[in-house]
Amino acid sequence: MTMFKGIAASDGIAIASAFRLTDPNLSFDKKTVDDSDHEMSRLHRAIDISKQELRTIQQRTLKDLGIHESEVFKAHIAILSDPEFLKRIENTILSQRVNAEYALKTVSDGYVKIFNSMTDNDYIKQRSTDINDVTKRVLSHLLGVKLTDPALIDHQVVVIAHDLTPSDTAQFVPNYVKGIVSDMGGRTSHSAIMSRSMEIPAVVGFQGDLADIHNGDEVIVDGLTGNVIVRPTPEEKHRYQAKIRDFQARTSQLAAFKDEATTSSDGKHPILAANIGTLDDLQAAIENGAEGIGLFRTEFIYMDSESLPTEESQFNIYKTVVQKMAGKPVIFRTADIGGDKDLPYLHTPHEANPFLGYRAIRMSLDQPDIFRTQLRALLRASAYGNLSIMFPMIATTIEFQHAKRIFEDERQKLLEKGVAVGDIKLGIMVEVPAAAILADQFTNLVDFISIGTNDLIQYVMAADRGNRRVSYLYQPYNPAILRLIKHVIDACHENQTPAYMCGEMAGDQKAIPILVGMGLNEFSMSATSILKSRALIKELDSREMVTLANKTVSMASTSQEVLKYVHQALDES
Ligand code: PEP
Ligand code: MG
Repeated sequence: MTMFKGIAASDGIAIASAFRLTDPNLSFDKKTVDDSDHEMSRLHRAIDISKQELRTIQQRTLKDLGIHESEVFKAHIAILSDPEFLKRIENTILSQRVNAEYALKTVSDGYVKIFNSMTDNDYIKQRSTDINDVTKRVLSHLLGVKLTDPALIDHQVVVIAHDLTPSDTAQFVPNYVKGIVSDMGGRTSHSAIMSRSMEIPAVVGFQGDLADIHNGDEVIVDGLTGNVIVRPTPEEKHRYQAKIRDFQARTSQLAAFKDEATTSSDGKHPILAANIGTLDDLQAAIENGAEGIGLFRTEFIYMDSESLPTEESQFNIYKTVVQKMAGKPVIFRTADIGGDKDLPYLHTPHEANPFLGYRAIRMSLDQPDIFRTQLRALLRASAYGNLSIMFPMIATTIEFQHAKRIFEDERQKLLEKGVAVGDIKLGIMVEVPAAAILADQFTNLVDFISIGTNDLIQYVMAADRGNRRVSYLYQPYNPAILRLIKHVIDACHENQTPAYMCGEMAGDQKAIPILVGMGLNEFSMSATSILKSRALIKELDSREMVTLANKTVSMASTSQEVLKYVHQALDES
């Protein structure tokens, strides 16, 4: 048995066998061959196996994830069935007397180059990604290397990965992926956030060597403490099975809080809302008793699509969400594309610092057609429920005013056409330090502010939220962060502007007492954190928490001191 430490990223405990999701080595040499027939039959065999494999994945994806997700595999099969594609590879083998690997790669690179040069056609460009994917698959069969494909997982596993992109995570079927261990990323990286919405226990920032975990090894992932146990002894496994039962018992006890109001012991009532990114998440939010949606990450709709989603498809999703929330408030954040949420079909040039680059509102204002389409969809959906809009990554008041002008323009045009539009509140995310510092200026312009601590912390501490090596600096309880948050909340209250928070800190059990003391009006979090946060807030006296909050911002100089004050306050309350 070996025990490793990491960062606890998604609650729960899983025991299953390891499934390593690693990038395979697909390198090969160019070879001159005498026996071209042999190369031809190797090629045909590799293509046949790939097609069979793709059919299996397509069926499974269709069954588990839906028609949309399965379409990409249909496209891959179509490429491998294209006579022109095959002919070109065969001709290369015959005319240049080269090995099948080289012929396949040369032809495929040729297609990709042509497609990429068609800069004005996103559909064609997407085909180049498909050709690359298909080529990888056929190459793996030619080289006898196993591809590790998330969509191929068909039994219960713990996924072991160096890094996980949000789109890798989106392909996981929760029935099979029981746990996740990754050595990159922090608690607020987007794949960690997604694993929480999918309720998959996860440990990120793994501190051991992933090479020590082999395919098929039994692994325990403790998403509550950040422990990972590889090849546990029977006693250890027994101990964890008991922990799983405790966790399940606690989860069902919390269910009693589902329909209760979130009222502190002295009668204060902050709103507990959920962060969501998909319609599936919405269901979880409702089941966990969310009093609203404090953040709908609309960029997930864009990431779940092979080209820009149309106004109609967005409208249908937004309308469904507000209707299902039946009058409870829903805040849609306009697309926060960029950073680690890249859209391959936009072909945005590579940047050295994507988190400081062309992202979120910066992209929206620069590509107003995309922005306007989204705003029209939101405006139309507002007639069906309680809908607010907020803009991500606002750094200056001018950006907000610019975005608002575009919004007003689209609103006016719809009204002129006689389209029904609801009463929409407009707000901003405060996640760039400049906006936090100038919060008082923003409160004159906006209807509400929502503090995005996931980014705010990384920008204040200059520590990438997804980088394990600097994760020790990613400190939600650092007094510098707390002072800035208090400054924003105070500025809001001085100007009667509601102060919300939708960063992960809003669902952090150690931060909640401080935030209650600061008078935060809405806490928006992963659905799975709502019930335990409600249970906690009901135990707190907000007046005592005011004292706690003041102590943490005026007397502490480190996170450790802050945590000491929090523990004292909770023990005394
Ligand atoms: C944040 O930055 O706190 C936030 C909620 O947005 P995201 O995590 O999507 O960047
Ligand atoms: Mg953010």
